[in-house]
Amino acid sequence: MYLVKTPIFIQKIYESCTWRIDSKDSIYLTFDDGPHPEATPLVLELLKTYDAKATFFCIGENARAHPKLVQQILVSGHTIGNHSYSHPSGWTTKTKNYIADVDKCKEIIDSKLFRPPYGRLKPSQLNELVAKYKVIMWDIMCGDFEDQLTKEICLSNITDNAKAGSIILLHDTASSIKKLKYVLPKVLEFYNTKGLKFKAIPE
Ligand SMILES: [Zn+2]
Repeated sequence: MYLVKTPIFIQKIYESCTWRIDSKDSIYLTFDDGPHPEATPLVLELLKTYDAKATFFCIGENARAHPKLVQQILVSGHTIGNHSYSHPSGWTTKTKNYIADVDKCKEIIDSKLFRPPYGRLKPSQLNELVAKYKVIMWDIMCGDFEDQLTKEICLSNITDNAKAGSIILLHDTASSIKKLKYVLPKVLEFYNTKGLKFKAIPE
């Protein structure tokens, strides 16, 4: 179960997080859970083709395993964010342990941007994090990770809902590759035609 659009009331409750960016001409793609040896190069290649920039929220464990991919993301002009070291859920993790996991990722991913795994945080965790990071959520989730969702629905979840200023959640992971190959070029084409620029979220 997932919601394509993050409800406004949730955005209001967690208003110290960034849910969208105030812009009339830009749109923001974000890729979580990488880097991945197959998915990340595929995404980088497609972004390059359309002269698009994006933000990659890397898991510390994966960044440690694939440092060259992290470098490739950065030299291509994208931004990178901390997505914790081992991808814990904030709801079931003690705040002290949660923050330690985020700090462990920071040793590998030096970024002011943080996205909580699953978007799940306790208020106590959020309070500590906002002192050190810009906490980036999303307003559009297309469900690229959902097995039972078709690639066509995944695409229309984005094109029917995302607009200037939207932060779109995607994944550069093994389970998303098939959908990415179909969805990503079409999304890049769709918003290019509308005159929107794909930008990286600045730190
Ligand atoms: Zn994640």
